[in-house]
Amino acid sequence: MAGGSREKTRAVIVVACFVAAISGAILLRRLRKRSRSRSPKIGGGSIENKPQEKFKRVLADNSYSPFKHLKRDDKGSPTELHPYEEEITHLLQNPSVLPDFVSDNGNVPLDMSGSYTWVDTEPELKSLAGILSGEKVFAVDTEQHSFRSFLGFTALMQISTVKEDFLIDTIALHDVMDILRPVFADPSICKVFHGSDNDVIWLQRDFHIYVVNMFDTAKACEILSKPQKSLAYLLEVYCGVITDKTLQREDWRIRPLSMEMIKYARCDAHYLLYIANCLSSELHSKNTSETSSFSGDKLNFFFEASRRSNAVCMQLYTKETEPSPGTSAATSIFSRTFNQKLDLAKVSELKDIIWKLCAWRDLMARIHDESLRYVLSDQSISALAVKLPKVPQQIYGTMTESPSPIVVSHIDELHNLLKNSNLSIDDLFDNILEMRLDPVGCCPLSAYNYALLSQLSSKRGDMFNFSLSGSEKVAQTGSKRASRELFIKKFSCKSPVYHNCRIYASDGRLLCYCDRKKLEWYLQRDLAKMVENDPPAIVLLFEPKGRPDDEDNDFYIQSKRNICVSCGEEKHYIRYRIIPSCYRMHFPEHLKSHRSHDIVLLCVDCHEKAHKAAERYKRKVAEEFGVPLFVQKIVDSGEEKVIASIGLTNNKNSNDGGKGVSPLHLRTAAMALLRHGSSMPSERRDQLMETVKAYYGGREVSEKDLESALLVGMNPNERRRFGKKKGLPLTLDYKSTTLIKNGFPSNIGNGENNGHNNISYSDNHHNNDSSEACEVGVLESDRRLSLLGHGPHGKLVVEQLLEKYGDEGILQFCQKWREVFVEALQPQFLPGGWNIKHSGKRDFGDYSVYNPTKKV
Ligand code: AMP
Ligand code: MN
Ligand code: ZN
Repeated sequence: MAGGSREKTRAVIVVACFVAAISGAILLRRLRKRSRSRSPKIGGGSIENKPQEKFKRVLADNSYSPFKHLKRDDKGSPTELHPYEEEITHLLQNPSVLPDFVSDNGNVPLDMSGSYTWVDTEPELKSLAGILSGEKVFAVDTEQHSFRSFLGFTALMQISTVKEDFLIDTIALHDVMDILRPVFADPSICKVFHGSDNDVIWLQRDFHIYVVNMFDTAKACEILSKPQKSLAYLLEVYCGVITDKTLQREDWRIRPLSMEMIKYARCDAHYLLYIANCLSSELHSKNTSETSSFSGDKLNFFFEASRRSNAVCMQLYTKETEPSPGTSAATSIFSRTFNQKLDLAKVSELKDIIWKLCAWRDLMARIHDESLRYVLSDQSISALAVKLPKVPQQIYGTMTESPSPIVVSHIDELHNLLKNSNLSIDDLFDNILEMRLDPVGCCPLSAYNYALLSQLSSKRGDMFNFSLSGSEKVAQTGSKRASRELFIKKFSCKSPVYHNCRIYASDGRLLCYCDRKKLEWYLQRDLAKMVENDPPAIVLLFEPKGRPDDEDNDFYIQSKRNICVSCGEEKHYIRYRIIPSCYRMHFPEHLKSHRSHDIVLLCVDCHEKAHKAAERYKRKVAEEFGVPLFVQKIVDSGEEKVIASIGLTNNKNSNDGGKGVSPLHLRTAAMALLRHGSSMPSERRDQLMETVKAYYGGREVSEKDLESALLVGMNPNERRRFGKKKGLPLTLDYKSTTLIKNGFPSNIGNGENNGHNNISYSDNHHNNDSSEACEVGVLESDRRLSLLGHGPHGKLVVEQLLEKYGDEGILQFCQKWREVFVEALQPQFLPGGWNIKHSGKRDFGDYSVYNPTKKV
């Protein structure tokens, strides 16, 4: 490729400079600055902002989650399989579907004097799809843009039939390109590409377009052992056309395209049919000339070319993954830059800072949807790592290119990263997340980074809430900045929540409305029969215990409308839990049954209002019950993790005598030690060790202890996720590291530790006398409970309620929450039968899902 050799020439110049010049670095920088400013060339048109910001359908976003392939309705195939696997496999095994190139031979126009069709509206694209569906073969090429985008996007598609050239504006038509999906997947239409490997996966990535039945002229070259297999070579040899391949690196986003670019783009597809035809004939004649000497199985050269082409179609697009962001770039930057001998300490120091810069760059590029090299060049990263500039102006000066807007707007972050060598990668990401949410406005929310943001916050959300004094800080600033539309798109219910299924008693009386699941539950057990289909209704085959006219039951026969119960908004709604789950999860089973009463639909705005009121009230509960929202201290001094107890101790003593540490601090310290323990300054290492030791009662801490410290405070689910995400070689069995078991008296606050694992609360309303500490055994059944959320708070509150007032206490508590909800929203559309005094009690029928004695 011409572009590739240009790269090489530059590399040679660079090496020469390095050797020749004493002040090589300066020269090098000048050279790069010049070559950078020369590109990208400005073509005929211009780019307004970033065109991908207008895309509504983004199949591959910049999050770390895997790409989701097309799911075909007619096939129940899982998404990790190729959606057209069957069709392609058939083609691989029976390459009998021979494109009839030969008959079109004479028709292939060799000149490009004719006009071309520019396709940039939906009707035009539909009409193109119609034309193509009538063809036996057409040629395809695509151009993509990758400098101002993280994953890159298809900016132009060229399609040529024997009669016509089409240039498709895949930017203008990005959201409707699926119009071409059927012709690309049609096994009876052959698609001719040259060097299709990239095109095939780009089409999947951007449009869920999958190529079925392809002839790749580069594969044909392979089989024919051509001296070269580049398109430029084929164009020259077969068509006498000389091309300037450097145009492939143009900015294909610009509109209108320059004449030169149009010519180039057409050229890439226009001659392909003719070339394919020539190569196909050669393959056929090779068959007869070379296999005639063999008696038995003939190698069919054409089939082999076709088979290799379709094997390319079998390829599936995947997002690149790495163990942790930035590692692969960091490795290559390090090995490219520092090949001379350095002492070990220096090596690890350099590696560490390069990796941090790469991780920062990776996240920045994803958030802003820019390429890595746009954000910060590899050369700048090594220059920064060597020089470690300490002030922003020096940072700019050290860089080998003029700083990108991303670097400029995040300069403080970068500054902090370079200044503070002890900053752990987690702290770095914490900072970025905070910055991301900061209403400074430098990082706009988009379809590309939304999932990334929610991934980050779900991964770290609990920890953040914990580390910030106001638990709402993140949620509030986040929601302020979150574009409302995107939020609605992502989180509101996609299909009506209530299915309005009905259940009748055998005498024909309506018992309740419910969802499909519940109907199915009865049907599967032959406890009911279907009487109507749309909407579905069943009749129970047994006599239910409760009837609509019984106490409280009228609620259940109200048909629920799919609207915001507060303002009546119909377009979108989210489920809202009136009783926060941190409490409800600890209710006795028999008080949990009437879930549907306390889950209502709210629009995004009302949801936010209600949530805020609830958080406010939670804090009040925390105060009244003397149970803070977060666990503030955990202690473990022994090998055996036998006990977990939640006690109340005075805040003043929360850092006393090395007996306790917050789950967050423990985890961060352990993580930093595991990752960078060997390379960090010993002072810092000791400091972090102290934190971990505080948890282990002051004893020496092993590697294994560090690993288990990472899991402290997480519930099993969090642990599993954590283990996967971090890719850390955790030798521990997640299940066996249960840190929370039956409660025993603990001795928080009196300076002693007896091998027990304690969880303590700090609170000003209670004294720190351990004998008075509120001991709460965390039972085996509560292993789900994470120490990082509000769960432990909820547990203590519910236990206090039950102890003091029994079930009645819980019912009153629920009523209070309903009052808070009503007061905050003054809801206008609550279903009839909904009421604040609703009691969760009712008799359970023999077959009720909630009957505690019944086994489901
Ligand atoms: P082509 O297969 O020649 O049509 O190239 C398709 C797309 O691949 C171009 O639009 C570029 O985005 C990208 N591309 C191909 N070769 C290079 C190169 N040497 N340097 C940068 N980008 C390239
Ligand atoms: Mn091309
Ligand atoms: Zn509303």
